[in-house]
Amino acid sequence: MKTSQLLNYERDRWTAGDSALSDIPSAIDGSLVARTGSGGIDFGAMLNHAREVGGPALRQLTFHERARMLKALGQVIMARKEELYELNYFTGATRKDGWIDIEGGAGTLFSFSSKGRRELPDAHVLLDGQLEGLSKQGTFVGQHIYTPLQGAAVHINAFNFPVWGMLEKLAPTILAGVPAIVKPASATAYLAEAAFRIMIEANILPAGAIQLIVGGVGDLFDHLTGQDIVSFTGSAHTALKLRTHPTVMRESVRFVAEQDSLNASLLGPDAAPGTPEFDLFIKEVATEMTVKAGQKCTAIRRAMAPAQYLDAVERALAERLARTKVGDPRAEDTHMGALVSISQRDDVRARIRELEAAGARIVAGNPDAEPPIEGGAFLPPVLLRADDPWGTDAVHDCEPFGPVSTIMPYRDIADAIALANRGRGSLVLSMFTHSPEAARDFIQGAAAYHGRMLVLNRDNTAESTGHGSPLPVLVHGGPGRAGGSEEMGGVRGVKHYMQRTAIQSTPAMIAAVTEQYIPGGPKHVIDVHPFRLTMSELQIGDTWKTASRTVTIADIEHFAQFTGDTFYAHMDQEAAKASPIFEGRVAHGYLILSFAAGLFVDPDPGPVLANTGLENLRFLTPLYPSDSMRVELTVRAKSIKSEETGQVRWAVEVFNQKDELVATYDLLTENVP
Ligand code: NAP
Repeated sequence: MKTSQLLNYERDRWTAGDSALSDIPSAIDGSLVARTGSGGIDFGAMLNHAREVGGPALRQLTFHERARMLKALGQVIMARKEELYELNYFTGATRKDGWIDIEGGAGTLFSFSSKGRRELPDAHVLLDGQLEGLSKQGTFVGQHIYTPLQGAAVHINAFNFPVWGMLEKLAPTILAGVPAIVKPASATAYLAEAAFRIMIEANILPAGAIQLIVGGVGDLFDHLTGQDIVSFTGSAHTALKLRTHPTVMRESVRFVAEQDSLNASLLGPDAAPGTPEFDLFIKEVATEMTVKAGQKCTAIRRAMAPAQYLDAVERALAERLARTKVGDPRAEDTHMGALVSISQRDDVRARIRELEAAGARIVAGNPDAEPPIEGGAFLPPVLLRADDPWGTDAVHDCEPFGPVSTIMPYRDIADAIALANRGRGSLVLSMFTHSPEAARDFIQGAAAYHGRMLVLNRDNTAESTGHGSPLPVLVHGGPGRAGGSEEMGGVRGVKHYMQRTAIQSTPAMIAAVTEQYIPGGPKHVIDVHPFRLTMSELQIGDTWKTASRTVTIADIEHFAQFTGDTFYAHMDQEAAKASPIFEGRVAHGYLILSFAAGLFVDPDPGPVLANTGLENLRFLTPLYPSDSMRVELTVRAKSIKSEETGQVRWAVEVFNQKDELVATYDLLTENVP
């Protein structure tokens, strides 16, 4: 392969670092793959470019427009994925490892794109919670909102997933409307640069939305402000250095840290040798040790088993690991490739020695084995055993970032909880059990120390995504040692890049700010039925007022017999009267909903295609026989999903003859745009 000089992408142009380039060797044989460096870059100007060019352009777009960009980015990565697979091998990774990184990265963009279009409004502001009434007459209300930070997101990534690691941070950042400056780890920067280049060449994002630093970050941190955010993945050591940077502390710069942790897996007390859970545990521990040569922040470093099963665990794992073929990641029969670099391999060897010095002993694998390819950073899987996990801190603290795990015994669930938590916080913990009681006791005792916990057994193994896979819809991150942050988690991850503000004013002002109809805000009564209008003809606040109808005792009895809902409150006058809630028999809530639909629906085929759900339903005032009801149907928000469909959110307000609110809810319909 021709050695390339990696380029920085600063202020919308590609530039070469002007001095002190670093060599990046291939993990397979140590040959030179690329040179990298960021000397001569004006980092302050980069930040300003993000703030002044990228940020305003992104903030002009709605969540949905940005979500569609994420989808397009995922598509171009997928279309050119083979270029990335070719580079992936030089990192020591097999094609299967690369799949997690490359296609997993694109999948994360797709997932955030779809979440963004389904769960965020087609607007510029995200609401947090419901309107808070602050006054008797309703003229003074409060609403929490999220708006994008007006600085830049600085992403500092680890070497192990150069594509996924970049995209899982970019997805929520761009969806939030914040520009990013990406700094990949040097050891695999050539793969990150290639994926970044694909996104730039596709010309999907506005100018200034993303920039790239291949090399050190110079004085970038000196220029950070409280509107910027640093999102870091890497070692605890570097995290500490960066989060205590004087500017970060002085300016209260947000700092999201995903750092190393000692993730554990537990063989349940019920999972004796011979049970499906025992076999699944062995398989998972071995998989986590060997996928990506164990260079996964989520890998199982501590495998705990009931003391009486530990020998069986050791035998089964050693046997399985002995079948792992370590070699050239390009070869189809290779199970495990190389570590990222010789220095990484040496670091893992040193950590193994540290564990040995603390009393653990190697029971499988030789850390000093000859590499299958001269000059390559290979290391076979190494299994250690610590018979006294209480006698040493090292097995709960020392992270060999490679194909290394330590098995250890526990006495009972209380002991297992205490051992698991002795890691002082981890990203993920798995438990292999078929006992709901064991799962309950263990999770309730340990959840506070772990960001994600999965219980695996014979019932979910076929569909499980496994111990080591962070998912875009679930939080990734953990307390304490794991960094104390969360990433992803669907829309939760987007909010890291936004500011929450409590807005207090009249409903009309809140409606204007949030680009939504707010109950109590201005309505525009229309005389054409809204079901006859396309989404572009419907305006926020357009209101259709229905005729009213009286609800009779015969209606209530008919509904009760027809549906089978003969609850006392509808059918038994004495019992209803005796209740602390009603003055006598009342109409069913579901009857009110059905009559409401009967009042507001316009029946013929038209722009409204289907009712897709109700949200936030509240019954506020009982409706008694002979009361009447009417409906006001108001366009609350709308979002176009594609050229064929979109969603309208309607505020439905049901009133009685005294204009008291009987029920409110949001109705969702699928519409023609
Ligand atoms: P690292 O040495 O801490 O490096 C992480 C990133 O920080 C790299 O991009 C590195 O750039 C950069 N960096 C280092 N010093 C810096 C400084 N003074 N200023 C600005 N940036 C700096 O970690 P690593 O060895 O690459 O990654 C392995 C570690 O990451 C393991 O401990 C693993 O557990 C952890 N990890 C955690 C997660 C998670 O999600 N929690 C995921 C993956 C990995 P250079 O490469 O250019 O030095």
